[in-house]
Amino acid sequence: MAADSVVDAIKVRMYRHGFGDCFLLSFMAQDRKVYSLMIDCGIKLNTSSETVPPEHMLADLRQQLTPADGDEPQLDALVATHEHWDHIAFFHPDRKWFDDFRIGSVWMGWTEDPDDKEAVQINSRLRKGARALQQAARKLRHNSSKKPAASRSKRETALAAFGDSIADIGEFYGLGLKSDSGISYRQDQKVSGQTQEAMEHICKLAKNSGGGARYLKPGTLVPAADLPAGVRIYVLGPPRDKLLNKSNPSGGDNRETYGEKKPAHFSLDGNGLGGFLQAMSPDQDNDEDNGNPFRKGVGVPVDKMSKDAWFRRTYMDKDQHYRNIDSDWLNIAARLALQLDGAVNNTSLVLAIEIIKTGSVLLFPGDAQVGSWLSWHQHEWTVGSGSRVRKVNAEELLNRTVLYKVSHHGSHNATLKDQGLEMMTHPDLVAMIPEQEKSYNGIIDKDLLKALNQQCRGRVIVSADRHHKPEDLTKQQSAQLTAAEWKRFKQKLHVDKVFVEYTVE
Ligand SMILES: [Zn+2]
Repeated sequence: MAADSVVDAIKVRMYRHGFGDCFLLSFMAQDRKVYSLMIDCGIKLNTSSETVPPEHMLADLRQQLTPADGDEPQLDALVATHEHWDHIAFFHPDRKWFDDFRIGSVWMGWTEDPDDKEAVQINSRLRKGARALQQAARKLRHNSSKKPAASRSKRETALAAFGDSIADIGEFYGLGLKSDSGISYRQDQKVSGQTQEAMEHICKLAKNSGGGARYLKPGTLVPAADLPAGVRIYVLGPPRDKLLNKSNPSGGDNRETYGEKKPAHFSLDGNGLGGFLQAMSPDQDNDEDNGNPFRKGVGVPVDKMSKDAWFRRTYMDKDQHYRNIDSDWLNIAARLALQLDGAVNNTSLVLAIEIIKTGSVLLFPGDAQVGSWLSWHQHEWTVGSGSRVRKVNAEELLNRTVLYKVSHHGSHNATLKDQGLEMMTHPDLVAMIPEQEKSYNGIIDKDLLKALNQQCRGRVIVSADRHHKPEDLTKQQSAQLTAAEWKRFKQKLHVDKVFVEYTVE
């Protein structure tokens, strides 16, 4: 193999268009680009950036990918990590953004494979959950939209706020439940229709270019025939076992992530989910529904109860409040919403990209949460040939990671501690976080950000958060870096209004 075609560096361009992932990776051989890979292109619904309209991102992508002879833009491979709007929004067919791009092949997790029975089952369950969530949001709309905000009772205000938080999660599916007046809901809209259409369009784009889609399984390598010389790509997730369902850290001392040791999260088992889906199922709807969990005719209306001495003494009594179950179904809906969010995040395709010459690893986990990280450690990859065959495990890949694309925008449940970040011991470690302030509750998680800054010794690059600008990052030398390290970091970093680019060697 001629040295001038063996990859010796990868330029990682993170776009600054708001809350969402879009990464362009240019694989370089002696300063010449030999291969381009794009990972995701999305934005959270109903969010935007004041400084970087998405069209500026598209213009840059086109310019980067159009060959010198002026042909249409070319991408060797496209990765769609998982079916959330903030990762795939710009592939929606209505946008027509990438319709003239020539895309070599598309890579997705095995969970998207239409011929995989287990994947089909998982997706049907997730869609049922999304549908239930939409029903819950619709019921809440009845509660919150009838009265003007000023005349709502405490309970009605709480319900409205809760509806907003459900809608917030719905936005990851492009559900668009929320409007200026509260929650809006389009009857008969196909649940998750938007994200599903975007995913299907991605496959169509690849098919039109002749490459088709590859559904990747954990514990394997991306076939060498798909890659330039000098690069290996390890597939770490999504998990093929029950760890797919573990989104949150364990409780107490067993907590796998950063932050205080909190009690374990409630988890909806099959029965709980089933019951909720039944209660929410569309055939039990009627127009006079007032947000109650049960059908009309079941139970006693509140105004009737208040006239009854026995009810006044028992259910209505202040000291007996714990007997009320009025809001319990809402708690279940909230948990379902979060669980659904985590379950889809765990279907993220997780890739570790290795520059063979230097051993440097770039870790792109999508939005993988706790269970996915745990599952990476079950695998071993065989690499090399002849007498140089050897086994590689996740710990070694983490040890050699020099660029970590922070999972799930820096949430509290998507970067492991002992079996994750603490294993990223390479002195050159840099983290990239695609994130915008005030876009999602609890992001960036404070404890995680502290740990990242410690492990990367200040080299944490955030895309669109006003409080963590990459421009500020280059102004003052991190106290933890030597002068030589600081100089090297600045040389490899290119901060532009539309993107931040970092070069890994
Ligand atoms: Zn995301």
